[in-house]
Amino acid sequence: MAGIQMKNIVKQYGDGFPAVNDVSIDVEEGEFLILVGPSGCGKSTLLRMIVGLEDITGGDMVIGGKKVNDLAPRERNLSMVFQNYALYPHLTVYENIAFPLRLAGKPESEIDEKVREASKTLELDEHLERKPGNLSGGQRQRVAMGRAIVRDAEAFLFDEPLSNLDAKLRGQMRTEISRLQKRLGITTVYVTHDQTEAMTLGDRVAVLKRGVLQQHATPRELYENPANLFVAGFIGSPPMNFLPANVKGNQVELPFGTVTIPEDKAAKAQGKGLLIAGIRPDHFEDADVVDKDKVTDEATFKAKVDVVEWLGNEAYAYIPFEAPTEVREQLAQLEKDLDGESLRTQLVVSLDGASRVSEGDEATIWVDARKIHLFDPATGENLT
Ligand code: ATP
Repeated sequence: MAGIQMKNIVKQYGDGFPAVNDVSIDVEEGEFLILVGPSGCGKSTLLRMIVGLEDITGGDMVIGGKKVNDLAPRERNLSMVFQNYALYPHLTVYENIAFPLRLAGKPESEIDEKVREASKTLELDEHLERKPGNLSGGQRQRVAMGRAIVRDAEAFLFDEPLSNLDAKLRGQMRTEISRLQKRLGITTVYVTHDQTEAMTLGDRVAVLKRGVLQQHATPRELYENPANLFVAGFIGSPPMNFLPANVKGNQVELPFGTVTIPEDKAAKAQGKGLLIAGIRPDHFEDADVVDKDKVTDEATFKAKVDVVEWLGNEAYAYIPFEAPTEVREQLAQLEKDLDGESLRTQLVVSLDGASRVSEGDEATIWVDARKIHLFDPATGENLT
């Protein structure tokens, strides 16, 4: 098992903008790293450069302390699990798992021991004589992982391994991959465009946009302290709300009213003109159900609720607003970067299931002002 260091990695195809642009990421031994971002951000290209399926235009790829830029894939001793699993349809589960060991000329006794051990770990031991065509999607996935496990590889690499599965199976497999990775303690790099997979699986997550690393941090850090508008909008569901904001002293003027923010936050946003405030749906609440001590005029505003979706333990309230032209362009660009998410011309507020707010109400909404982020509309940088 080995750590992986990507040092100023560049990939240039033709003369367009680089598919991967000066990316540096350290993956520690035993760590589960997620590469995430919208389609075309360069995550698969980066993975393919780790495994050696793609040449590196610039920078160094170091695996287990050794520079591997010029090593062929088989010399890197990594195990890759592809989206389509790449199983041999004419071979049994047993032979599919045994394949890399046979290729390496291992003795029959060792092959048998390893295949049985892996298939037990993956709960495939009852299906060893079946062919891939007779397996469920999840079982096929596990066979592909079995083949990766038996090789004693330095690291596992996954390229969107769950994207062909239905939602339920995807959830199950996610848990299974996580459990297995922890048990084996093997360094893992996993590519996905799904932020839920990224947040639930990764020890750390690297968010990419157009070949450029935006932030590399733990899921909690990404959620609580996104580096910029892009990461803030990409991580979290429903997504963070973005609102035009004017900061005066420690008062923030939002389309619905003015709230008071902590002074240290306000200090970082002085004199910058119109900003974009980012507030997660979870950081609002119906003032009637929130702790009474928290409900002050400085932290509440009145708004007309357009639609309420009640889900049992929580409800989403939708509140339309108009964004002034100064920030509209920036928000429209953000929507494009985020791969066509719907335009945010409404505030989404997550309310406790106990809330009695209903459609058409003029509700008093509390906002957790400590959790407000303020972004520079020109650079997208999180100022707070
Ligand atoms: P997806 O999730 O859609 O696979 P991705 O984030 O994995 O996207 P990549 O496949 O790494 O993105 O592609 C990054 C960029 O490089 C894209 O603009 C893509 O068009 C380009 N690209 C990828 N492979 C090649 C290639 N062989 N030749 C030229 N351009 C390529």
